Amino acid sequence: MIALTKLASPRILTQNAAAWRAELLATIAAGEEPTKAQKNRYNHVDIKAQLVEETHGKCSYCESKMRHVDDGDIEHILPKAKHPDLSFDWENLTLACTICNRKKGDHDAPPGDAQSLVNPYQDDPKAHFLFHREILTPTPESVRGSNTENILELNRADLRERRREKIDELHQYVTAYAQAEDDYKPLVSRQIRKQCVGADKEYSAFLEQYISEMITRGTLPEDVLS
Ligand SMILES: [Zn+2]
Repeated sequence: MIALTKLASPRILTQNAAAWRAELLATIAAGEEPTKAQKNRYNHVDIKAQLVEETHGKCSYCESKMRHVDDGDIEHILPKAKHPDLSFDWENLTLACTICNRKKGDHDAPPGDAQSLVNPYQDDPKAHFLFHREILTPTPESVRGSNTENILELNRADLRERRREKIDELHQYVTAYAQAEDDYKPLVSRQIRKQCVGADKEYSAFLEQYISEMITRGTLPEDVLS
């Protein structure tokens, strides 16, 4: 998980959210079951596109890229089943992979509550998680980090395997850098930046932590991350 910044609300939502919300809440208040169309009006191509951009096309929880095989789910940070009034609230929408979305389910806790999940838009994930090689560890003081890791299973086997592949690939680049002739080091360093640095990279929290450790021990130059 990395920190994310909300982009501007897409026009379709700015123009329609209030009416959609009023319609949905009126139906519920009348004791009727809202139609699928009434519940799912957030599922619009422009809304998805803006969420893809602000999440760098990754699941906002596990940082997996899924867009090559899956559109990704529009995820309600507070579940729409329990907070229908937030169904079309831009601040409550993000992008998640199918698995994180399913594991989160209707988990519900007010922001800041010990049971609330770490929110990449409001919390600093680095205060809640340590990233070592392919393993995510909640920081010792973070109850919310621990709950988030448990509920979303952020160390599930498939994630660990894919993260290990990424770290191994990075390790090969770093090894190439460390053993390169001085003339070639800038070239390899640029390659590391291009392939492994940036919020758009899959599992960037893990890659950047690994690179930071290599900088600290003097293996890589500081400008790889800057
Ligand atoms: Zn995910």
